[in-house]
Amino acid sequence: MSEEQADRMIENVIGQIGIPVGVATNFVVNGREVLVPMATEEPSVVAAASNIARMARELGGITTTTSEPLMQAQIQLLDIADPHGARARLIESADEILALANAQDPKLVEIGGGARDIRVRILPRSEGGSHVVVHLIVDVADAMGANAVNTMAEAVAPRLAELAGGRPLLRILTNLADLRLVRARLAIPPGALGGGQVVDDMLAGAMLAVDDPYRAATHNKGIMNGISAVVLATGNDTRAVEAGAHSYAARDGQYRALSRFERDESGSLVATLELPMAVGLVGGATKTHPAARAAVEITEVKSAAELGEIVCAVGLAQNVAAVRALAAEGIQRGHMGLHARNVAIGAGATASEVDAVASALVADGRVRADIAEGIIGELRAER
Ligand code: NAD
Repeated sequence: MSEEQADRMIENVIGQIGIPVGVATNFVVNGREVLVPMATEEPSVVAAASNIARMARELGGITTTTSEPLMQAQIQLLDIADPHGARARLIESADEILALANAQDPKLVEIGGGARDIRVRILPRSEGGSHVVVHLIVDVADAMGANAVNTMAEAVAPRLAELAGGRPLLRILTNLADLRLVRARLAIPPGALGGGQVVDDMLAGAMLAVDDPYRAATHNKGIMNGISAVVLATGNDTRAVEAGAHSYAARDGQYRALSRFERDESGSLVATLELPMAVGLVGGATKTHPAARAAVEITEVKSAAELGEIVCAVGLAQNVAAVRALAAEGIQRGHMGLHARNVAIGAGATASEVDAVASALVADGRVRADIAEGIIGELRAER
């Protein structure tokens, strides 16, 4: 990206930061071979996803589905005397409100998207009384949709307030995009994972993440290692997807794992993942950042829905990789092997020394800065 492009993208630009983009291999998603660009600073992420994608191939790869691309804007209404009456009046005028929303975005309507429905929620307010919140539900087609729905929300808010007999306050999308869900499923025979005991231990480990928020946070972080890397590589909004994922993980009142691990009747591991997925192919940086455009091209996707499904497939593979490593040899063996290069560089190894120092660290088994410094000293003394 040129300095000029960067300067147009955000404010007060002083530079750019380089994040490596790797390509995850072995992915078969809905029967199609896919190469997946991943932008991440964390070693072992791309390798781990590729490894599980390879194991999943035997039983057909990863299968995904997605709902309609429905985003929701929230319009908060204050000072309503009769919340239930207001709710009824708003729903009675739904057609008028949807028409007003759609008048804001003829382009979206032309390509088959647009406002679809309204919902009116009355929820208890912590300081007493109730909140009245209108959800405007919009089919955003191939956009992430934030700007699209925010514009509509601001346009309809005065009329909503008039109908409800109050005043509008907040008018913005919710990132808990629970009407725009994506799902992925994979199955792997026990032999590929290290045997039946490993599968049993994976199930036991994954169940802790369903029941315990402390474990769930890290389990879901592993999922997001894959998801955020693809979202970032394709120029999409990582914070929007992350907010959606974590709020969805807490939807029943307790924060839980986003994925589920089971054994099917033949004994294979079956892992599934479901989460909101607000990614787009138009708008945001997806169209303006040249590297993001190239990343989208690598995936060969034709729609935002298809991109979201691939993102979800990578998140699931990433998650299975972490849970398998934890249930088998532990997370550090693979991770530290790949991390050794960073430790070597941190300890002062020059470009020509990095590989030798990293290999010596892995052979030693102690991937530590002090050991790396000793190895660098020995190498230089030999010379
Ligand atoms: P956008 O407004 O740039 O693009 C969407 C518009 O493109 C649509 O309204 C439509 O008019 C047009 N369009 C043309 N072809 C289309 C197609 N095939 N499908 C859909 N629309 C098409 O972008 P957006 O997706 O509405 O908003 C995304 C941006 O909003 C991101 O940069 C995001 O970071 C930012 N944002 C996010 C939040 C949040 O997540 N809370 C809040 C505000 C802004």
